[in-house]
Amino acid sequence: MKKIISILTAGALLFSLSACGKKSNDNTIKIAYLPITHSLAVLETADELSEQTGLKVELVKYGSWNELMDALNSGRVDGASVLIELAMKSKEQGIGLKAVALGHKDGNVLIASNDITDASELKGKTIAIPHRQSSHNILLNDALVSAGLTIDDVNITELAPTEMPSALAGGQIDGYCVAEPFGAKAVSLGAGKVLFTSEELWEDSLCCGLVLTDRFIEKRENDAKIFVESYKQAGKSLTKEKALETAEKYLNQDKDVLELSLQWISYDDLDITEEDYAVLTEKVKSYGLSENPPSYADFVKNNFE
Ligand code: ZN
Repeated sequence: MKKIISILTAGALLFSLSACGKKSNDNTIKIAYLPITHSLAVLETADELSEQTGLKVELVKYGSWNELMDALNSGRVDGASVLIELAMKSKEQGIGLKAVALGHKDGNVLIASNDITDASELKGKTIAIPHRQSSHNILLNDALVSAGLTIDDVNITELAPTEMPSALAGGQIDGYCVAEPFGAKAVSLGAGKVLFTSEELWEDSLCCGLVLTDRFIEKRENDAKIFVESYKQAGKSLTKEKALETAEKYLNQDKDVLELSLQWISYDDLDITEEDYAVLTEKVKSYGLSENPPSYADFVKNNFE
């Protein structure tokens, strides 16, 4: 009897191994994302890719950056549209990842309550960011520096993006910087206003990146190449009208909020240049996000064979 059970178990194991083997060779690419305007290029790619190439993007939606990073770091997905600083931190900690494109250009705002008129009035206030490892943290630091302040002059709190507009409306926080459309939402509600757009603080700022695991790139380099090329094309195709259409399909937000938000962002040039990455790493170091960010050569992959 025991023998039969062990044979059955071995059979089940073999079956599941062959099922796994089959899955890794199929034509699906699993990409993690958060429902924000910053991930529209990958959402658009998912729509376009299968029509053009037969490759299929399986979109895996997460509710927070921590959950998404857990999936990426443990290899449950092949890649993600993610805050580039979070991916840099993982790379620094030994996770095999490459940034292959930007998520978007510009597209962030620093929101303040309506009574705050300039950056100097942020002193002593409570400001929310989504994560310490974010360009939102960097942009807040940039805004404070512009007024002769530092991060020590404000109270920082980490909140989920969806909670920020209501926290501002309820007076628990005095301002925030976060992925869109949650800045536009506060403006639309009348709860706050744009104190700075990202380009006023940091020209050609980086924020989200499209990241792929080394494992995926090594096993399926040709698929990775096709995917990244298609992704950059999808970014170019995202006119304001097309972006609005894709955002309405995936983000479950009011049209007026999306229209306002999409005025601040672009997707037509998603290459990560060495020059822009150098500015990012300098800011990451000077604002204390990381002492040892990965080098451009180790972390950014622009060319596929
Ligand atoms: Zn972003």
